[in-house]
Order: sequence, then structure tokens, then C-alpha cells
Amino acid sequence: TFYAKKLEVVLVGLENSGKTTLLNVLAAGRPVETCPTIGLNVKLVRKGGVQMKCWDIGGQAQYRSEWGRYTRGCDVIIFVVDSHAIESIPLARKELHRLLEDRELATTPVLVVSNKIDLEPHVTEGDLIRDLNLDYVTENPWIVIPISALKVVNVDQVLQWLIKQGN
Ligand code: GDP
Repeated sequence: TFYAKKLEVVLVGLENSGKTTLLNVLAAGRPVETCPTIGLNVKLVRKGGVQMKCWDIGGQAQYRSEWGRYTRGCDVIIFVVDSHAIESIPLARKELHRLLEDRELATTPVLVVSNKIDLEPHVTEGDLIRDLNLDYVTENPWIVIPISALKVVNVDQVLQWLIKQGN
């Protein structure tokens, strides 16, 4: 296996940011199980020593109280942003900071995936750091990786980062 230990990954982001596409690429084309509990559309993938849970945030305020159930015990958070949907970034910022308010996640590493860089225009890495207020995220270690899940650009960097977290 790629991973030395079991790694619990939570993949979150606004609807349409590309989470399912990334999940499928990370899971190497395996079918995704869908778990239609409590109105939250949670997708689960297990591969080697990795378990990945994926769900949409935003527009699902009523299920916010359930987030803890999916984030509890997670080792890393992958927060997926649509870098081409520039108008959606303020909402993504709000949801990211709201998610990180959970004390359970206070020191959980966050990988911000800036997806859809194959589309123009898209926010640059520097602009995204500014627009997501990442400089205010001081307790969680964080990193931004610009990718295209669809064109499979820089997905290897995501895997490398995950492998590093798992060791
Ligand atoms: P989710 O709602 O976050 O799970 O998003 P999906 O994975 O369902 O993707 C939403 C739409 O964006 C789909 O039409 C995908 O094909 C498209 N998409 C996902 N990733 C990329 C990408 O890197 N580039 C482009 N151009 N489209 C993408």
C-alpha cells in the first residue's frame, strides 16, 4: 500500500467545485459508494490505508450540526475550491472558516485544492490565499495546491501530500 497507516480524509467544498471528480481520480476510477443518510450526500471511498469521506457544504446549513459526525477523528481536510467560479470564493471563505471553528479540527492539516485551473480565468494561488483569508488560519497547518481534477493536472502533488500526512 501507498500508506503506512490508516488515513482519514475529509473532502469538503461548495457544490460543483469538483470533489466527486477528484475523489474518483484519487480512487483510480473505482466506483464511489453513496451514503444518503440524513440528507447529507456523503460519499465514501476506501483505498489501501485511506478512507475518504466527501460532502458538499453550503446550502446545507440545516445539517451543520451533523458535520462533527463526519469530521471527528479525521486526519486531514481537503477543501476544494472552484478557481474558475471567482464569484463563489467569498462563500467558500465563509464556509471554510466556519468549518475550522470546530475545536475538534483545531490542528488538523488543511489542503486547499484550487481546482479547474484548466479554465480561464481562474484565481491565482496568491489571490486565493488572500481571498480565503488563509493568513488568519494560524493553528491548522495549510497548503494550497492548484490542480485540474478533470485533466489530471497536479493530482500527483495531492497524492504526495496525502502520503506525507500518512507517514
Ligand atoms: P462536486 O459537486 O464538488 O462533487 O463537483 P463534481 O466533481 O461533480 O464536478 C462538477 C462539474 O465540474 C462537473 O461537470 C465536472 O466535470 C467539472 N469539473 C470538475 N473538475 C474539473 C476541472 O478540473 N476542470 C474543469 N474544466 N471541470 C471540472
